[in-house]
Order: sequence, then C-alpha cells, then structure tokens
Amino acid sequence: MQGTPTGGIQQTIGDPRLQLAIYSATRRLIEHRAGAVGSERLPDYQELRTRANQIKQHTIEHLDHYLEQFESNVAAHGGKVVYCRTGEDVSDFVLGLAKERKAHLIVKSKSMTTEEVHFNERLERHQLETVETDLGEYILQLAHERPYHIVAPALHMTRYDVAELFTKTLGVAKEVEPEKQTKIARATLREKFLGADIGVTGANFLVADSGAVVLVENEGNARLSTSAPKIHIAVAGIEKVIPRAQDLAVFLDLLGRSATGQPLTVYTSFLSGPRRAGELDGPDEFYVVLLDNGRTKLLKDPEKRQSLYCIRCGACLNHCPVYRKIGGHNYPWVYSGPIGAIITPQFHGVSEDGWLPFASSLCGACAEVCPVKIEIPKLLLKLRSEVTEAKRAQGSGGVERFAFRVWAWLMTHPKTYLALARLGSKSAGLLPKVGPLGSWTSQRELPPMASQSFHRWWAQRRRS
Ligand code: SF4
Repeated sequence: MQGTPTGGIQQTIGDPRLQLAIYSATRRLIEHRAGAVGSERLPDYQELRTRANQIKQHTIEHLDHYLEQFESNVAAHGGKVVYCRTGEDVSDFVLGLAKERKAHLIVKSKSMTTEEVHFNERLERHQLETVETDLGEYILQLAHERPYHIVAPALHMTRYDVAELFTKTLGVAKEVEPEKQTKIARATLREKFLGADIGVTGANFLVADSGAVVLVENEGNARLSTSAPKIHIAVAGIEKVIPRAQDLAVFLDLLGRSATGQPLTVYTSFLSGPRRAGELDGPDEFYVVLLDNGRTKLLKDPEKRQSLYCIRCGACLNHCPVYRKIGGHNYPWVYSGPIGAIITPQFHGVSEDGWLPFASSLCGACAEVCPVKIEIPKLLLKLRSEVTEAKRAQGSGGVERFAFRVWAWLMTHPKTYLALARLGSKSAGLLPKVGPLGSWTSQRELPPMASQSFHRWWAQRRRS
C-alpha cells in the first residue's frame, strides 16, 4: 500500500507563490461559476443537475447498447470506431496508422484521456512528433509537466513563469503580457497545424443517435486540429457516450457554467465522419478510439459506477479545500481533486494510492457543485472502508486499528474519557512538532481549548 507523498505536499504548502497562484485561480473559477448558476441566471439549475444525473445513470446502465448504436452511426457516416482496452492499445493503433500513412507530425487538442495513457511519451519514443495546441497544454509540454487541473492545466503557473519558460525553450524575448505570449505560441502552432498529418482530440460527448463527436473549447485549436490534417482521431473513454442529441441541451447548459462560468464555451463542434463530397473542410479519414483502461471494472458496483458520470468540469477541484492547499501535482494520476480521489483508487486498485480517499475533509462542497450529482463523499467513505479492509488483508494498519479500539473503549467509559479530555485540554499546545505526529503538527497550530468542556457545560445547565 503506497503512502502519502508527504515531501511534495510539504513543498507545495510551504511555497507562498504557489499557494497564491492556486488560491487566486480557483477563487476566480468559483466566483465565475457562482455567478453563472445563480437562480437569476439559471433558474432551473437544480432540475438540470437532476436531469443530467438521470441521463448518465440510464446511459451507464445501458452502456453496451449505446456504444453499439454510436459505432453503427459513425460507420454509417464513413468513420470507424476502434475499441482499445489499454493505453498501449491506443498508441499501437495510432502508430500503426501513422506508419501506413507515412505520418510524422501529430497536432493534439486538450484531452485528459490521452494524458491518462501517456500518449505523447509513447508516440515520441517512436519518433512521431506530437504537439499540444491548447495554450495551457502547450506550456506544460514545453515545461515537461502534466496537467495541474482538469480544465486549467497550467493553473499553477504565473505569466512570469510562462515568460521565462518561453525564453528558455523558444528563444524569444521575455514577454509578460498574456496577449503577447499567446501570439508567440500562435506563431509556432500555426506552422504545426499546416504541416500536421494527423489531428488527435478528446471528446466531451459522443452522441449515440447521430454518431457525432462533440467538442467544447475556447481557443479554436480543436477546430484546426480536426479540419487541417487529413486524418482525425478522437480518443475518448467509453463513458462519454450519451443517448440523444437532445441530451446535449442539458449537458452543454451545465458544463461551461460549472467549469469557467461561461453559459457556453466559445466553440462547440459537432463532428460526424470524414469530409463528404462537395464539402470544403474536414479530414479524409475519421476514427473514434474508445478506451476502457479500467472503466468496465467500475460498472459492476451500482454505487461506485456513478464515478463514470463525470463530465470533467473541474468544479469539485476548485471547491475542495484539500486541492486548494496541495495543488494538482501531488495527486498521483492526471485526475486530481475529489474526482481524482475517487477514480484513481478504483482504476488502479485500492492497494495503490490508498491514501487518496482519506485526502478529504468530507465537507461535501464537491457534491454540492457537481453538475451531474456524483455522491463523492459517499464514495470516499466506501473507498476508505475498502482500503482499510485491504490493509487488514495485507496484515498492515495494526497501529490504526489499535488506536480506534482504544478510542471505542474510551467512548464507552465516560469517566475515563472526561478525565483524559481535561488532561488533553491542558496539554494540547504541547504536541511535538517532530516524531510520528510531526508531519501533521508542524504545519498547524491547534486552536486554544475552550475553558469548559461541553459535558461540564451541559451538566451545569441541567442543574440550573
Ligand atoms: S466529479 Fe462532478 S464536479 Fe468533479 S469534475 Fe466531475 S462532473 Fe465536475
């Protein structure tokens, strides 16, 4: 069972510049969302959430049916669906196709699914150049970092960090104005779009009844990635399918608002198949790669499979006090925050990264803002008990079990409990900053204990 990555967390917490960057970016996103879903702007917000939850529940319960329907509609429009079990299968497929078509350059628009399977690294090992074209992802590719946040991948970097990075990696003059930085990136990326052989994107939704891949974005890079190269490959998790085009009205109303506070993102693209005869734009070949990578494992548990409802809006990250403190890179996988804490142990097994379900205050803010109503705190508790069971089966976690047995005994022996509570209230400030409790106490000051315990106050009240 892997432990908490304490070193990285301590570093993040102890870095005031990074703390400020995380806090101010997430606060902005929180404020924008609050403004967009308020009762004046979106009076039926709660009904939309309920509807979204119902659609997702229904789809996940009939996933095989909707995947088959989606596949046949893609084929009817001249495209092809490819099922992949693992990340390796995805890269094998793309490498094989690139080899056949003599492709050398791939442009990519933002896709968490490809991040999940280390797509770029796998392809670059075979001398296939892969260029991220979303500005945040492009910055991270230059910095050799993984996304810090689901919708704002470079959220932790300030414009000064980006200025330095561009100077170091692109050899340009230091430019701290975001508009000028965007122009620098655009100049490089335009050339890449024009020279690319393949465009790879993710998919926000896959519409079963039309076979359309739906992409939402703000920069227009997904549009270029899907129309300039001769081949378009959309890589998506199998859970991205939704039954009907009408359902998009529900999800599009929720996604932009929950993510960035936008009623609708700048571009919404519906892509179904390669360019038809007489059409000016579009690829000659169109593929949709549907990835499992552990998703089908989640289907068998009726409670835990709601993790697959996620539409990757990032709202739970922004509102999570733990994410806002420890940032994105201390989570072991590409998915961070509350959604990362529930899906990572399920995808990788609770014996891996078993600390994640415990990285939560269970305050419930994530569930309150989730547009598809995933019961995140409930799933965290379920996973916590699975982690504890796994530890027991491995013969570890004995100290913890002993501590809880002592606690249970104390709770059933009130006199001893009260005597110890009195003693504890006097010595709370003396907790050591080193030793087994050190990593907890070194970053925290316990608040002064109340002068009177609740029990004593209650007893006095009853007497008076
Ligand atoms: S779990 Fe909900 S709030 Fe979090 S990213 Fe997914 S859809 Fe958004």
